[in-house]
Amino acid sequence: MIASVRARPPNGLARPAASGTDPDVLAAFLEDAAHFPGGHADGVIVATSEADVAGALRSRRAILPIGAQSSLTGGATPMGETILTTSRLNHIGAIGDDWVRVQAGVRLADLDAALAAAGKYYPPVPTFMGAFVGGTVATNAAGAATFKYGTTRDWVRALTIVLPDGNVLDVERGAVRASRAFEIAVSNRTITVQVPRYRLPAVPKCSAGYFAAPEMDLIDLFIGSEGTLGVVTSVTLRVLPSRPAVCLVFVPFDDRDGALRLAATLRDAARETWRTGDARGIDVAAIEHMDARCLALLREDGADRACGVTIPAAASIALLVTLELPTETTAAQAFEDIGRARDRDAPDTPLVRLCRALDAAGVLDRAHVAVPGDTARRQQLLTLREAVPAGVNARVGRAKQSIDARIAKTAADMIVPFDRVAELMTIYDEEFRRRGLDAAVWGHISDGNLHPNVIPRSMADVESGRDAIVAFGRAVRELGGSPLAEHGVGRNPTKQLLLRDMYGDEGIDQMRAVKRAIDPEWKMAPGVLFPRP
Ligand SMILES: Cc1cc2nc3c(=O)[nH]c(=O)nc-3n(C[C@H](O)[C@H](O)[C@H](O)COP(=O)(O)OP(=O)(O)OC[C@H]3O[C@@H](n4cnc5c(N)ncnc54)[C@H](O)[C@@H]3O)c2cc1C
Repeated sequence: MIASVRARPPNGLARPAASGTDPDVLAAFLEDAAHFPGGHADGVIVATSEADVAGALRSRRAILPIGAQSSLTGGATPMGETILTTSRLNHIGAIGDDWVRVQAGVRLADLDAALAAAGKYYPPVPTFMGAFVGGTVATNAAGAATFKYGTTRDWVRALTIVLPDGNVLDVERGAVRASRAFEIAVSNRTITVQVPRYRLPAVPKCSAGYFAAPEMDLIDLFIGSEGTLGVVTSVTLRVLPSRPAVCLVFVPFDDRDGALRLAATLRDAARETWRTGDARGIDVAAIEHMDARCLALLREDGADRACGVTIPAAASIALLVTLELPTETTAAQAFEDIGRARDRDAPDTPLVRLCRALDAAGVLDRAHVAVPGDTARRQQLLTLREAVPAGVNARVGRAKQSIDARIAKTAADMIVPFDRVAELMTIYDEEFRRRGLDAAVWGHISDGNLHPNVIPRSMADVESGRDAIVAFGRAVRELGGSPLAEHGVGRNPTKQLLLRDMYGDEGIDQMRAVKRAIDPEWKMAPGVLFPRP
């Protein structure tokens, strides 16, 4: 089936958008969070309207749209394009019962604050709340809570995209679906986009090039397209009508199997709670994990003490569990539940059930809990979790400065079905050991999404780490997973290789055909996802 849709001219008049080529101004935009080397640009445009964006696309040779530049793949690092920053497209529009309309440059933290004031909630956020909505749509970002809430894709109801030729497409979820091709009528021609034939692995998150599915929705082509098909200017997001109370539990384990068993128990219990609607059931939104090397880093950096947490010397893994409770749950009720969890006549509540699961796993007495409303303790536990990537990044930075300027972050973002997680952990461990690499692994274990990170002591470690990542990619595919889960592909050569391994040359050619149809001059984010042929 072929589906057709008509693009429109941009609304409003293009004002001369603020733009500049001053090297001091440009310098602030030449790197993203991946510290991808060699960033350079021929100017920066600060768009304040859809018409500004269209004007920029019509007048410039090559454009790189950017959000907060928190990309971990180099996708937001310019390589000679004009940078189009969306930071001034930052208006939060109407908030409905279960939706909100925002411009692309709205920061997630600002969206969250506005929704909180209205009692509403947007859950599928990445760990970094400074990211812009447009950036999260462009990368199909996902975070800790994918297990319960899915990825950004699942929450996007409508998009406005300025196409590379300056025409504007408004797409609503469900309105334009096709199995063979999409036809997009623009001013004087029709763009025909063939639906790619490759299939994505069946895992909860996959940010690996253009989406494809039988009977696919046009909106899904743009979600996760990493700035290569147009500029997202406005987004309608689904939101929840209320915010749950949240309890965080940090719990170290001596043995990995015990931690994985508890994670499996909590996942099963949560699914049962969602199925039955049992108000007393365990409702887990996320389970994060940190391996033994992560825990050692926390100790080396004193982050455990700073965050008021004790990590036993024998601990080999820790979990950070996000338990959702009814909105009205108070700190006093939570403390009472925790205190009485071992009593036979304790009330049957979600928190009592969680404590009993921890007790059965032999770890109740070592659990650190942030009850609902205890924002200080909650922040400590989140800081502890963030201290792991921060500790790795600081070590990479020091090695880069003191050992070899070519040293770079060497990390992956892979996902397997949850029941294959133990195998993936063993694969990571054995490959790193065989190569003599120092490495830390953490991630969103409730989805099976694990981030292996090399702690390089030389450029040889970086090279060996990159080879290890390519080998992991193959193993992950054999386990039914995706070697590219949530961060996207960007300009990172290893990730681009993983993408090619995933879909083969034929799959990349199908992606290139999509790109060529929508962006024949190859002006949007050239070099992101795949090189120009
Ligand atoms: C500390 C930290 C933690 C992180 N945790 C997570 C996590 O848990 N999960 C996760 O998924 N990611 C995570 N990330 C990565 C990053 O936050 C996400 O990829 C985020 O979605 C990027 O948003 P951004 O606004 O910074 O986009 P940018 O980095 O500026 O851009 C990313 C890509 O999107 C394109 N783009 C940006 N805006 C637009 C637009 N309006 N229209 C079209 N294309 C556009 C760019 O061209 C680029 O290719 C983390 C990053 C950091 C630094």
